[in-house]
Amino acid sequence: MVSVHAWAAHSADGPLAPWHFERRDCGPNDVRIAIDWCGICHSDVHFAKGDWGPVAYPAVPGHEIVGRVVQLGSGVSDLAIGETVAIGCLVDSCRACPSCGVGLENYCDVGWTGTYAGVEKQTGRPTYGGYSTGIVVDRHFVLRMPSGLDPAAAAPLLCAGITTYSPLRHWKVGRGSRVGVVGLGGLGHMAVKLAAAMGAEVTLFTTSPGKERDAERLGASRVVLSRDPEHMAKTANSLDVIIDTVSATHDLEPFFNALYREGTLVLLGAPPSPHPSPNIFSLLFRRRSLAGSLIGGIRETQEMLEFCAAHKITADVEVIAASQLNEAWARMLRSDVKYRFVIDTSTLAA
Ligand code: NAP
Ligand code: ZN
Ligand code: ZN
Repeated sequence: MVSVHAWAAHSADGPLAPWHFERRDCGPNDVRIAIDWCGICHSDVHFAKGDWGPVAYPAVPGHEIVGRVVQLGSGVSDLAIGETVAIGCLVDSCRACPSCGVGLENYCDVGWTGTYAGVEKQTGRPTYGGYSTGIVVDRHFVLRMPSGLDPAAAAPLLCAGITTYSPLRHWKVGRGSRVGVVGLGGLGHMAVKLAAAMGAEVTLFTTSPGKERDAERLGASRVVLSRDPEHMAKTANSLDVIIDTVSATHDLEPFFNALYREGTLVLLGAPPSPHPSPNIFSLLFRRRSLAGSLIGGIRETQEMLEFCAAHKITADVEVIAASQLNEAWARMLRSDVKYRFVIDTSTLAA
Protein backbone atom coordinates (compact mmCIF):
# COMPACT_ATOMS: atom_id res chain seq x y z
CA MET A 1 0.00 0.00 0.00
CA VAL A 2 1.23 3.50 -0.79
CA SER A 3 0.07 6.54 1.16
CA VAL A 4 -1.14 9.53 -0.87
CA HIS A 5 -1.95 13.12 -0.02
CA ALA A 6 -5.45 14.30 -0.85
CA TRP A 7 -8.03 16.98 -0.22
CA ALA A 8 -11.38 15.61 0.82
CA ALA A 9 -14.90 16.72 1.63
CA HIS A 10 -15.55 15.79 5.26
CA SER A 11 -19.24 16.79 5.33
CA ALA A 12 -21.91 18.13 2.98
CA ASP A 13 -21.52 21.75 4.04
CA GLY A 14 -17.98 22.02 5.40
CA PRO A 15 -14.91 23.00 3.38
CA LEU A 16 -12.60 20.61 1.57
CA ALA A 17 -9.56 19.93 3.75
CA PRO A 18 -6.34 17.93 3.58
CA TRP A 19 -6.49 14.19 4.20
CA HIS A 20 -4.35 11.18 3.41
CA PHE A 21 -5.11 7.54 2.74
CA GLU A 22 -3.54 4.44 1.20
CA ARG A 23 -3.95 3.25 -2.36
CA ARG A 24 -4.14 -0.48 -2.98
CA ASP A 25 -1.08 -2.44 -4.08
CA CYS A 26 -0.48 -2.61 -7.81
CA GLY A 27 -2.06 -5.90 -8.98
CA PRO A 28 -0.94 -7.77 -12.13
CA ASN A 29 -3.22 -5.76 -14.43
CA ASP A 30 -2.81 -2.45 -12.60
CA VAL A 31 -0.96 0.77 -13.29
CA ARG A 32 0.20 3.07 -10.49
CA ILE A 33 0.07 6.70 -11.56
CA ALA A 34 1.55 9.81 -9.95
CA ILE A 35 -1.14 12.45 -10.51
CA ASP A 36 0.05 15.84 -11.81
CA TRP A 37 -3.22 17.58 -12.72
CA CYS A 38 -6.87 17.13 -11.90
CA GLY A 39 -9.74 19.16 -13.35
CA ILE A 40 -12.69 20.30 -11.23
CA CYS A 41 -16.03 19.12 -12.61
CA HIS A 42 -19.40 20.35 -11.36
CA SER A 43 -20.17 16.67 -10.67
CA ASP A 44 -17.49 16.79 -7.94
CA VAL A 45 -19.56 19.45 -6.17
CA HIS A 46 -22.93 17.70 -6.70
CA PHE A 47 -21.45 14.45 -5.36
CA ALA A 48 -19.65 15.84 -2.31
CA LYS A 49 -22.58 18.00 -1.23
CA GLY A 50 -24.93 15.02 -1.35
CA ASP A 51 -27.01 16.32 -4.29
CA TRP A 52 -27.22 12.78 -5.69
CA GLY A 53 -27.69 10.86 -2.45
CA PRO A 54 -25.89 9.86 0.73
CA VAL A 55 -22.09 10.23 0.76
CA ALA A 56 -19.50 8.25 2.73
CA TYR A 57 -17.13 10.92 4.10
CA PRO A 58 -14.28 11.64 3.79
CA ALA A 59 -14.95 11.83 0.03
CA VAL A 60 -12.20 12.57 -2.48
CA PRO A 61 -13.63 13.83 -5.79
CA GLY A 62 -11.84 14.31 -9.12
CA HIS A 63 -12.20 12.43 -12.42
CA GLU A 64 -10.20 14.54 -14.87
CA ILE A 65 -6.79 13.10 -14.12
CA VAL A 66 -3.46 13.42 -15.92
CA GLY A 67 -0.27 11.94 -14.52
CA ARG A 68 2.75 9.72 -15.11
CA VAL A 69 3.13 5.95 -14.85
CA VAL A 70 5.28 5.06 -11.83
CA GLN A 71 4.64 1.30 -11.51
CA LEU A 72 3.30 -1.41 -13.80
CA GLY A 73 1.67 -4.71 -12.81
CA SER A 74 3.43 -7.86 -14.05
CA GLY A 75 0.81 -8.32 -16.77
CA VAL A 76 1.00 -4.82 -18.25
CA SER A 77 3.49 -4.55 -21.09
CA ASP A 78 2.13 -1.82 -23.37
CA LEU A 79 2.85 1.21 -21.16
CA ALA A 80 6.21 2.55 -20.00
CA ILE A 81 7.34 3.99 -16.69
CA GLY A 82 7.27 7.78 -16.97
CA GLU A 83 4.68 7.81 -19.78
CA THR A 84 1.97 10.51 -19.50
CA VAL A 85 -1.45 8.90 -19.08
CA ALA A 86 -4.95 9.91 -18.07
CA ILE A 87 -7.93 8.60 -16.12
CA GLY A 88 -11.51 9.77 -16.58
CA CYS A 89 -14.74 8.94 -14.77
CA LEU A 90 -14.50 5.13 -14.92
CA VAL A 91 -12.05 2.79 -13.21
CA ASP A 92 -13.90 -0.52 -13.67
CA SER A 93 -16.90 -2.26 -15.25
CA CYS A 94 -18.00 -5.89 -15.66
CA ARG A 95 -16.08 -6.29 -18.97
CA ALA A 96 -18.44 -9.15 -19.96
CA CYS A 97 -21.86 -7.66 -20.79
CA PRO A 98 -22.99 -6.67 -24.31
CA SER A 99 -22.40 -2.96 -23.56
CA CYS A 100 -18.85 -3.52 -22.30
CA GLY A 101 -18.34 -5.79 -25.31
CA VAL A 102 -18.90 -2.91 -27.71
CA GLY A 103 -16.77 -0.45 -25.74
CA LEU A 104 -19.63 1.21 -23.91
CA GLU A 105 -18.36 0.58 -20.38
CA ASN A 106 -20.14 3.81 -19.41
CA TYR A 107 -23.42 1.96 -20.03
CA CYS A 108 -22.27 -1.37 -18.49
CA ASP A 109 -25.39 -3.51 -17.97
CA VAL A 110 -24.17 -4.58 -14.54
CA GLY A 111 -22.90 -1.18 -13.42
CA TRP A 112 -19.53 0.53 -13.75
CA THR A 113 -17.24 1.73 -10.99
CA GLY A 114 -16.76 5.47 -10.76
CA THR A 115 -13.32 6.96 -10.18
CA TYR A 116 -15.01 8.27 -7.03
CA ALA A 117 -18.38 7.44 -5.45
CA GLY A 118 -17.85 3.78 -6.33
CA VAL A 119 -16.68 0.67 -4.51
CA GLU A 120 -13.28 -0.74 -5.41
CA LYS A 121 -13.79 -4.42 -6.35
CA GLN A 122 -10.26 -5.34 -5.28
CA THR A 123 -10.61 -4.03 -1.69
CA GLY A 124 -14.30 -3.37 -1.05
CA ARG A 125 -13.39 0.20 -0.06
CA PRO A 126 -14.84 3.41 -1.54
CA THR A 127 -13.07 4.69 -4.63
CA TYR A 128 -11.22 7.97 -4.14
CA GLY A 129 -10.68 10.38 -7.01
CA GLY A 130 -8.03 12.64 -8.38
CA TYR A 131 -7.80 15.39 -5.75
CA SER A 132 -4.87 13.23 -4.64
CA THR A 133 -1.24 12.63 -5.49
CA GLY A 134 -1.54 9.07 -6.79
CA ILE A 135 -3.95 6.40 -8.02
CA VAL A 136 -3.91 2.70 -8.97
CA VAL A 137 -6.13 1.74 -11.92
CA ASP A 138 -6.71 -1.37 -14.05
CA ARG A 139 -4.85 -0.95 -17.37
CA HIS A 140 -8.08 -1.16 -19.38
CA PHE A 141 -9.22 2.17 -17.94
CA VAL A 142 -5.93 4.02 -18.46
CA LEU A 143 -5.86 6.39 -21.47
CA ARG A 144 -2.76 7.31 -23.41
CA MET A 145 -2.18 11.04 -23.65
CA PRO A 146 -1.23 12.01 -27.20
CA SER A 147 1.89 14.14 -27.49
CA GLY A 148 1.36 17.80 -28.27
CA LEU A 149 -1.44 18.39 -25.75
CA ASP A 150 -0.58 20.52 -22.73
CA PRO A 151 -1.21 18.08 -19.85
CA ALA A 152 -2.87 20.60 -17.49
CA ALA A 153 -5.20 21.94 -20.17
CA ALA A 154 -5.91 18.40 -21.41
CA ALA A 155 -7.08 17.13 -18.01
CA PRO A 156 -10.66 18.43 -18.49
CA LEU A 157 -10.94 16.43 -21.71
CA LEU A 158 -11.29 13.33 -19.52
CA CYS A 159 -14.79 14.34 -18.42
CA ALA A 160 -15.92 17.63 -19.97
CA GLY A 161 -14.34 16.62 -23.29
CA ILE A 162 -15.69 13.09 -23.65
CA THR A 163 -19.11 13.97 -22.20
CA THR A 164 -19.68 16.47 -25.00
CA TYR A 165 -17.77 14.63 -27.76
CA SER A 166 -19.82 11.44 -27.34
CA PRO A 167 -23.29 12.93 -27.99
CA LEU A 168 -21.96 15.11 -30.82
CA ARG A 169 -20.73 11.90 -32.50
CA HIS A 170 -23.80 9.85 -31.59
CA TRP A 171 -26.15 12.45 -33.12
CA LYS A 172 -23.86 12.60 -36.17
CA VAL A 173 -22.82 16.22 -35.96
CA GLY A 174 -20.69 17.24 -38.92
CA ARG A 175 -20.25 19.92 -41.53
CA GLY A 176 -23.36 22.05 -41.75
CA SER A 177 -25.05 20.66 -38.61
CA ARG A 178 -26.81 23.32 -36.59
CA VAL A 179 -25.84 22.74 -32.96
CA GLY A 180 -27.03 24.57 -29.86
CA VAL A 181 -25.08 24.50 -26.59
CA VAL A 182 -26.78 25.57 -23.36
CA GLY A 183 -24.49 26.94 -20.62
CA LEU A 184 -20.92 28.16 -21.03
CA GLY A 185 -19.10 26.37 -18.23
CA GLY A 186 -16.68 23.44 -18.31
CA LEU A 187 -18.81 21.13 -20.46
CA GLY A 188 -20.35 23.94 -22.49
CA HIS A 189 -17.08 25.47 -23.62
CA MET A 190 -15.82 22.05 -24.71
CA ALA A 191 -19.07 21.42 -26.59
CA VAL A 192 -18.63 24.71 -28.47
CA LYS A 193 -15.01 23.96 -29.39
CA LEU A 194 -15.68 20.34 -30.42
CA ALA A 195 -18.84 21.05 -32.41
CA ALA A 196 -17.08 23.89 -34.26
CA ALA A 197 -14.11 21.59 -35.01
CA MET A 198 -16.55 19.01 -36.43
CA GLY A 199 -17.78 21.66 -38.85
CA ALA A 200 -21.05 22.60 -37.14
CA GLU A 201 -22.62 26.03 -36.94
CA VAL A 202 -22.84 26.67 -33.20
CA THR A 203 -25.39 28.70 -31.23
CA LEU A 204 -24.54 29.28 -27.56
CA PHE A 205 -27.31 29.90 -25.03
CA THR A 206 -26.10 31.61 -21.86
CA THR A 207 -27.58 33.25 -18.79
CA SER A 208 -24.41 35.34 -18.32
CA PRO A 209 -24.34 38.58 -20.34
CA GLY A 210 -20.53 38.88 -20.06
CA LYS A 211 -19.76 35.63 -21.89
CA GLU A 212 -20.68 36.56 -25.50
CA ARG A 213 -17.19 37.44 -26.69
CA ASP A 214 -15.66 34.33 -25.23
CA ALA A 215 -18.35 32.19 -26.86
CA GLU A 216 -17.49 33.66 -30.25
CA ARG A 217 -13.76 33.21 -29.68
CA LEU A 218 -14.41 29.55 -28.77
CA GLY A 219 -16.31 28.94 -32.03
CA ALA A 220 -19.96 30.03 -31.64
CA SER A 221 -21.44 31.95 -34.57
CA ARG A 222 -24.51 33.06 -32.60
CA VAL A 223 -24.92 33.86 -28.89
CA VAL A 224 -28.36 34.05 -27.30
CA LEU A 225 -29.21 35.33 -23.83
CA SER A 226 -31.52 32.55 -22.72
CA ARG A 227 -33.35 34.64 -20.10
CA ASP A 228 -34.48 37.12 -22.78
CA PRO A 229 -37.75 35.74 -24.24
CA GLU A 230 -37.61 37.97 -27.35
CA HIS A 231 -34.08 36.87 -28.13
CA MET A 232 -35.07 33.24 -27.56
CA ALA A 233 -38.12 33.52 -29.82
CA LYS A 234 -35.81 34.39 -32.74
CA THR A 235 -34.17 30.96 -32.48
CA ALA A 236 -37.41 29.02 -33.13
CA ASN A 237 -37.02 25.92 -35.37
CA SER A 238 -33.38 26.64 -36.14
CA LEU A 239 -31.30 23.82 -34.63
CA ASP A 240 -30.74 20.10 -35.29
CA VAL A 241 -29.33 19.15 -31.91
CA ILE A 242 -28.98 20.96 -28.60
CA ILE A 243 -26.48 19.92 -25.93
CA ASP A 244 -27.79 21.13 -22.55
CA THR A 245 -24.98 21.36 -19.95
CA VAL A 246 -26.81 23.36 -17.28
CA SER A 247 -26.09 22.20 -13.72
CA ALA A 248 -29.40 23.51 -12.30
CA THR A 249 -33.07 22.69 -12.78
CA HIS A 250 -34.57 24.88 -15.53
CA ASP A 251 -37.38 25.14 -18.05
CA LEU A 252 -36.63 23.09 -21.16
CA GLU A 253 -39.50 24.48 -23.21
CA PRO A 254 -37.66 27.40 -24.86
CA PHE A 255 -35.01 24.96 -26.07
CA PHE A 256 -37.54 22.55 -27.60
CA ASN A 257 -38.90 25.48 -29.54
CA ALA A 258 -35.43 26.18 -30.88
CA LEU A 259 -35.25 22.68 -32.44
CA TYR A 260 -36.08 22.15 -36.09
CA ARG A 261 -38.21 19.17 -37.20
CA GLU A 262 -36.80 15.91 -35.75
CA GLY A 263 -34.25 17.76 -33.67
CA THR A 264 -32.98 16.36 -30.37
CA LEU A 265 -32.42 18.04 -27.02
CA VAL A 266 -29.66 16.10 -25.25
CA LEU A 267 -29.47 16.57 -21.49
CA LEU A 268 -26.00 16.34 -19.93
CA GLY A 269 -26.49 18.38 -16.74
CA ALA A 270 -27.34 16.38 -13.62
CA PRO A 271 -29.10 18.70 -11.14
CA PRO A 272 -30.49 17.23 -7.92
CA SER A 273 -34.15 17.70 -8.89
CA PRO A 274 -35.85 17.11 -12.25
CA HIS A 275 -36.67 19.74 -14.86
CA PRO A 276 -40.35 20.57 -15.25
CA SER A 277 -41.80 18.05 -17.72
CA PRO A 278 -41.70 19.01 -21.39
CA ASN A 279 -44.86 20.20 -23.09
CA ILE A 280 -45.92 17.06 -24.97
CA PHE A 281 -47.08 19.07 -27.98
CA SER A 282 -43.61 20.59 -28.45
CA LEU A 283 -42.40 17.06 -29.07
CA LEU A 284 -45.37 15.78 -31.09
CA PHE A 285 -45.71 18.55 -33.59
CA ARG A 286 -42.19 18.46 -35.00
CA ARG A 287 -41.29 14.88 -34.06
CA ARG A 288 -38.66 16.20 -31.68
CA SER A 289 -36.77 14.03 -29.15
CA LEU A 290 -35.56 14.44 -25.61
CA ALA A 291 -32.43 12.42 -24.79
CA GLY A 292 -29.61 12.07 -22.29
CA SER A 293 -26.00 11.01 -22.53
CA LEU A 294 -23.44 9.89 -19.93
CA ILE A 295 -19.69 10.49 -20.39
CA GLY A 296 -18.30 7.99 -22.95
CA GLY A 297 -16.66 4.56 -23.24
CA ILE A 298 -12.91 3.98 -23.01
CA ARG A 299 -12.41 3.45 -26.76
CA GLU A 300 -14.30 6.63 -27.59
CA THR A 301 -12.39 8.57 -24.91
CA GLN A 302 -9.11 7.56 -26.56
CA GLU A 303 -10.57 8.56 -29.95
CA MET A 304 -11.61 11.94 -28.50
CA LEU A 305 -8.08 12.55 -27.19
CA GLU A 306 -6.66 11.83 -30.67
CA PHE A 307 -9.29 14.14 -32.23
CA CYS A 308 -8.30 16.91 -29.81
CA ALA A 309 -4.60 16.41 -30.55
CA ALA A 310 -5.28 16.55 -34.31
CA HIS A 311 -7.37 19.72 -33.94
CA LYS A 312 -5.15 21.27 -31.22
CA ILE A 313 -8.06 21.43 -28.78
CA THR A 314 -7.69 21.63 -25.02
CA ALA A 315 -9.77 23.30 -22.31
CA ASP A 316 -9.37 26.95 -21.30
CA VAL A 317 -8.08 26.44 -17.79
CA GLU A 318 -7.31 28.34 -14.63
CA VAL A 319 -4.66 26.35 -12.74
CA ILE A 320 -5.08 26.56 -8.97
CA ALA A 321 -3.28 25.41 -5.83
CA ALA A 322 -5.05 23.26 -3.23
CA SER A 323 -5.43 26.31 -0.99
CA GLN A 324 -7.74 27.84 -3.65
CA LEU A 325 -9.99 24.78 -3.93
CA ASN A 326 -12.83 25.99 -1.74
CA GLU A 327 -12.96 29.34 -3.52
CA ALA A 328 -12.95 27.54 -6.87
CA TRP A 329 -15.97 25.48 -5.84
CA ALA A 330 -17.77 28.62 -4.66
CA ARG A 331 -17.00 30.33 -7.98
CA MET A 332 -18.28 27.30 -9.89
CA LEU A 333 -21.59 27.57 -8.06
CA ARG A 334 -21.79 31.23 -9.18
CA SER A 335 -21.14 30.25 -12.87
CA ASP A 336 -17.84 32.13 -12.60
CA VAL A 337 -15.46 29.65 -14.22
CA LYS A 338 -13.38 30.48 -17.28
CA TYR A 339 -13.79 27.71 -18.17
CA ARG A 340 -12.32 24.93 -16.06
CA PHE A 341 -10.31 24.93 -12.85
CA VAL A 342 -7.42 22.46 -12.77
CA ILE A 343 -5.58 21.56 -9.55
CA ASP A 344 -1.80 21.46 -9.57
CA THR A 345 -1.59 18.34 -7.39
CA SER A 346 1.96 19.13 -6.25
CA THR A 347 0.21 21.57 -3.86
CA LEU A 348 -1.98 18.91 -2.18
CA ALA A 349 0.55 17.78 0.43
CA ALA A 350 -0.30 19.58 3.67
P1 NAP B 1 -20.17 24.39 -14.83
O1 NAP B 1 -18.76 24.58 -15.30
O2 NAP B 1 -20.55 24.92 -13.50
O3 NAP B 1 -21.15 24.95 -15.98
C1 NAP B 1 -22.54 24.95 -15.85
C2 NAP B 1 -23.09 26.17 -16.59
O4 NAP B 1 -24.52 26.08 -16.53
C3 NAP B 1 -22.75 27.50 -15.97
O5 NAP B 1 -21.50 27.99 -16.33
C4 NAP B 1 -23.88 28.39 -16.47
O6 NAP B 1 -23.60 28.81 -17.80
C5 NAP B 1 -25.06 27.42 -16.54
N1 NAP B 1 -25.94 27.57 -15.37
C6 NAP B 1 -25.60 27.39 -14.06
N2 NAP B 1 -26.65 27.61 -13.26
C7 NAP B 1 -27.69 27.92 -14.07
C8 NAP B 1 -29.07 28.22 -13.86
N3 NAP B 1 -29.59 28.26 -12.62
N4 NAP B 1 -29.84 28.45 -14.95
C9 NAP B 1 -29.34 28.40 -16.18
N5 NAP B 1 -28.03 28.15 -16.45
C10 NAP B 1 -27.23 27.90 -15.41
O7 NAP B 1 -20.52 22.82 -14.76
P2 NAP B 1 -19.96 21.60 -15.66
O8 NAP B 1 -18.79 21.00 -14.97
O9 NAP B 1 -19.88 22.03 -17.06
O10 NAP B 1 -21.15 20.53 -15.47
C11 NAP B 1 -22.45 20.85 -15.92
C12 NAP B 1 -23.44 19.79 -15.50
O11 NAP B 1 -23.16 18.57 -16.21
C13 NAP B 1 -23.39 19.41 -14.02
O12 NAP B 1 -24.69 19.17 -13.55
C14 NAP B 1 -22.58 18.13 -14.01
O13 NAP B 1 -22.83 17.31 -12.90
C15 NAP B 1 -23.07 17.50 -15.28
N6 NAP B 1 -22.19 16.49 -15.87
C16 NAP B 1 -22.79 15.46 -16.52
C17 NAP B 1 -22.01 14.51 -17.17
C18 NAP B 1 -22.66 13.42 -17.96
O14 NAP B 1 -22.01 12.43 -18.21
N7 NAP B 1 -23.89 13.61 -18.39
C19 NAP B 1 -20.62 14.60 -17.10
C20 NAP B 1 -20.04 15.67 -16.43
C21 NAP B 1 -20.84 16.63 -15.82
P3 NAP B 1 -23.97 30.32 -18.31
O15 NAP B 1 -23.28 31.23 -17.33
O16 NAP B 1 -23.41 30.36 -19.68
O17 NAP B 1 -25.47 30.40 -18.27
ZN1 ZN C 1 -17.22 15.22 -14.58
ZN1 ZN D 1 -20.52 -4.51 -18.43
